[in-house]
Amino acid sequence: MPNLVQALQGFREGSTYYSVGDGFYYCLNRTKGSRKFLKCFRHGRYKCMSRASFEVNSRELSVTVNHNHAPEPWVESLLKERHAMKGHAARDFDFLQTSSYGRFTYN
Ligand SMILES: [Zn+2]
Repeated sequence: MPNLVQALQGFREGSTYYSVGDGFYYCLNRTKGSRKFLKCFRHGRYKCMSRASFEVNSRELSVTVNHNHAPEPWVESLLKERHAMKGHAARDFDFLQTSSYGRFTYN
């Protein structure tokens, strides 16, 4: 029984992450018919080239390119925590932004 794709509210306003609960998260790359094509949300920070897609009806994820990093199961709880706090602790999450400039804003 495969895990079904779940949509999570992303770090940025209006963004959505997709996950099957294995510690990897994906952003929507494009939609073609009833199939959504995803790319890893770490494509910016880790230059991860992972790709996956799923049919919106079955929600069974098929990964076509594997990740170049370890799963990060804690991201999901950070997302939930962040939305619970309504962005007040946004600074703490800057390291999760998909910036490849290495510009961190810890005080
Ligand atoms: Zn990845």
